[in-house]
Amino acid sequence: MPELHDMTASELARVLISGETTSVEITRSLLARIDKLEESIHAYVTVDPDSALEMAAEADRMIAAGKAGPLTGIPIAVKDNMCIKGRKTSCGSRILGNFKPPYDATVVRRLKDAGMVILGSANMDEFAMGSSTETSYWGPTRNPWNTEMIPGGSSGGSAAAVAAKEAVVSLGSDTGGSIRLPAAFCGVTGIKPTYGAVSRFGLVAYASSLDQIGPIARDVKDIALLLNLLCGHDPMDSTSVPREYPDFTSFLEKPVKGMTLGLPTEFFSKLDNEDVSRAVADARKTFEDLGIKFVDLSLPHLDYGIAAYYIIAPSEASSNLARYDGVKYGHRAEEYSGIIDMYCNTRAEGFGPEVKRRIMLGTYALSSGYYDAYYVKAAKVRTLITNDFKKAFESCDAIFCPTAPSPAFRIGEKIDDPMQMYLTDVFTIPVNMAGLPGMAIPAGFSRDGLPIGLQLIAPHFKEEVLVQLSAAFQRETDHHLKTPAL
Ligand code: GLN
Repeated sequence: MPELHDMTASELARVLISGETTSVEITRSLLARIDKLEESIHAYVTVDPDSALEMAAEADRMIAAGKAGPLTGIPIAVKDNMCIKGRKTSCGSRILGNFKPPYDATVVRRLKDAGMVILGSANMDEFAMGSSTETSYWGPTRNPWNTEMIPGGSSGGSAAAVAAKEAVVSLGSDTGGSIRLPAAFCGVTGIKPTYGAVSRFGLVAYASSLDQIGPIARDVKDIALLLNLLCGHDPMDSTSVPREYPDFTSFLEKPVKGMTLGLPTEFFSKLDNEDVSRAVADARKTFEDLGIKFVDLSLPHLDYGIAAYYIIAPSEASSNLARYDGVKYGHRAEEYSGIIDMYCNTRAEGFGPEVKRRIMLGTYALSSGYYDAYYVKAAKVRTLITNDFKKAFESCDAIFCPTAPSPAFRIGEKIDDPMQMYLTDVFTIPVNMAGLPGMAIPAGFSRDGLPIGLQLIAPHFKEEVLVQLSAAFQRETDHHLKTPAL
């Protein structure tokens, strides 16, 4: 048997049910791995070994009682913006640095009910604003493939933890690419489900019309298991869509011959990185060998995606973040004279520079006299982008493109140049604007040995198509089986 921390969730489930190992043993193996690697990776904000071992013991009791589900006893990392009752949930920010939520997010409740073992909270860009996990108040996470590089963001801790085998699987959130980008940069698999598929109750809000929670794992099999657990209606989230979801694992073996993938010409004309171009061309060949047809198509409003996103996301953020005022919870400044001064000092101390920039951008875009010129216009552009995708899906089952324009970059390289940082999301942001599901899957490596990710995009609520295509791809390739030397 391979070492426990080397195994995927579906492999571990087998040895758990057969009695070859216990959840407590698996959890110990992961905790030892965390102990060994955290100093160099820093994937976690908080690790809670006692509570994890308690959950593992409970999972073992469930297994013994014959009440185990497919993910019972499997250790998972949860991004630091999802409420875990009684445990610090800081959203990578000083302003929530001492916040212990009095309730569980719906996704966390689902993990707990399934008997999963929550190892801790994964590091992230402050309030999920960033593409590199460098804006975390707790310091950056490092890419397990090369610790001088960023892991991508904002769910950098979630992706790095899975890549470094400090967690079997993890949860991330994705507003403009925050699951898919770090998954691509860390060589793991991640999906942003359709807007409305997974409840956001208990997710600290960034941009509410874009935020989605989704899983990160080492292969599509585990992604399918987690989608089964996460997708579903929740009356506590008014944007959660009441509908039935298929058993996603039943699409893992489904043949893909005869399916059609669309190549958006605008995505490819932007691509000037040789390593990414080569990996994507190889992936195309793999799909063609599987009997998949490729068609060119156009997403003409793609160019406006980033501009419109950086009106909509900061506008919503400026409104969502107004609640952090030091009154009921979170950080409060120690020195102030009067209530206005207390608000000002609290927010000045509690938020980092990127969050402040977004609050200013958003407040400006929403202010009277500018609202129509900026916010309303961006909302119209968003509709155009959505319509582009609708039209594109008339001629294909899914869209095929890179996840990011380059492999991971160096820590510090873009942090002082917000425009360059924002451009990293050029291929992921349009997917959130249209509310579509998007999957990032490992597609090879750069000449410097850094992972490169492919992105597949499907119509609304067609996650199963992404599972089907990605599983076929992972049967033919071994990129997802490679792991960093740590
Ligand atoms: N990088 C984008 C931003 O900073 C997307 C982040 C995300 O998806 N949470 O807003």
